[in-house]
Amino acid sequence: MEIIHVSAECYPVAKVGGLGDVVGALPKYQAKEGHIVKVVMPMYRTKFLYENEWDLVHQSSQYLGTHWFSYNVIKEKTNKLGFDLYLVDINGLLDRERVYGYDDDIERFTSFQIAVCDWLSKWAHKPDVVHVHDYHTGLIPFMVQHCYAFRHLTNIPTVVTIHNAQYQGWMGWDKRYYLPGWDSWKGGLLEWDKTINPLASAVKCAWKVTTVSYSYLNELKYMSNGLENLFEYEKGKCVGILNGIDTDVWNPATDHFLVKNYDAEKEEKGKQKNKKEICGQFGLDVEKPLFVFIGRLVGEKAADLLPDSISSSIYQHHGNCNFLVLGSGEPTVENHLEVMKQQFSGYVNTYIGYSESLSHLLYAGADFLLMPSRVEPCGLNQMYALRYGTVPIVRSVGGLIDTVKDFGEYQGFGIRFDNATIWDITYSVGRAIDLYYHKKNLFSWMQQYMMGIDHSWDSSAREYIQLYQSLK
Ligand code: ADP
Repeated sequence: MEIIHVSAECYPVAKVGGLGDVVGALPKYQAKEGHIVKVVMPMYRTKFLYENEWDLVHQSSQYLGTHWFSYNVIKEKTNKLGFDLYLVDINGLLDRERVYGYDDDIERFTSFQIAVCDWLSKWAHKPDVVHVHDYHTGLIPFMVQHCYAFRHLTNIPTVVTIHNAQYQGWMGWDKRYYLPGWDSWKGGLLEWDKTINPLASAVKCAWKVTTVSYSYLNELKYMSNGLENLFEYEKGKCVGILNGIDTDVWNPATDHFLVKNYDAEKEEKGKQKNKKEICGQFGLDVEKPLFVFIGRLVGEKAADLLPDSISSSIYQHHGNCNFLVLGSGEPTVENHLEVMKQQFSGYVNTYIGYSESLSHLLYAGADFLLMPSRVEPCGLNQMYALRYGTVPIVRSVGGLIDTVKDFGEYQGFGIRFDNATIWDITYSVGRAIDLYYHKKNLFSWMQQYMMGIDHSWDSSAREYIQLYQSLK
């Protein structure tokens, strides 16, 4: 089959969160199965762009409303990611340092989608499926079906994967002129709650909708930031397919970000060396259990609960624990954590910012990974933690339910709690401390066991292929 993925992120070209990881890995695994797989994304000013060589494959122009823009499509020459990578360059709009967070993001991603459809409509042949990801590419299913300029594309099956339904890309009806001429009787397919809602539109127009875990699919029917009724109504075409992890990139035996590589057999020594490195760098005590948090410091991840949960854990558990937070996000949380660094020196440290290398070292050297998320569509962090023998402490939500089993259950290997509250987090930290100091055999069994769990993309990538084939 020929599969086109359209996305705002793709690791290692540009990654902000899990979307980047998924679009960097899924296409590679699909290509390994013998399919022709292409990823199309915006051309940002990233290191990857400057470090690689590119062929110009298409040049054209289009309109965003009355604004004329020209665009180029370039292709990475060597196929080094294991699939064909195409970047869409729109001068002045996409060529920025960051992926998101600009005042004109609506204009940026809408023109990107128009350029992609325009380019596809000029191909001599048609791909078998166009697979779009999240709201940034959510207008494509509507455009290929209802914009007159793209009528050649109407019969191409479209699939949308929802990595996160919290963000929907809302835009006012005044922006309806941005889309190239479309059948105005179809306006309802763009709308949700009196605005143009690209994510809702994708759910309505795509042939199939997938979510990144089974539990998240159920949750969307009662917790999807306003789209609950839509998910209930469209449930017939929705499928949950659990994300995998790229086991080439996330492999403690070969990971070049670690100071010591290890596998399940040499897990104890290997983890200890990496822990020593972290504790040395961040002034923490290597003898105590190390709890880490890695991620965006936002309400969705319950990052606002971290400062008080950390201090309460340190007091309640008599200082028998160390914490390290890697992330960035809401300034109040960042500031609070920075203050705690001084207040709890030797117990708490932070790295405010983004560091791919440090994240790998933390998955390897930590004893426990905290994920108190309020919303977690799939969550990749806990799967990386499992692969690196780090016990995940997670709230029972979304994909965390599907991937972590509490050690109180038969063959459980993680710690789960129900509520995103300081009390539940502190209590769970207490259970972890008990494991670390008093149930050493069980703790070590859990680490060995979790490292053997297979979360690679192989089976999920095949599930996607079966889904595409069902659309023929
Ligand atoms: P989300 O996509 O909601 O942010 P996921 O768990 O799906 O959450 O994916 C998060 C990915 O981003 C993981 O690969 C994680 O290691 C990475 N990540 C998040 N914040 C940081 C950071 N500050 N530094 C390095 N990696 C980070």
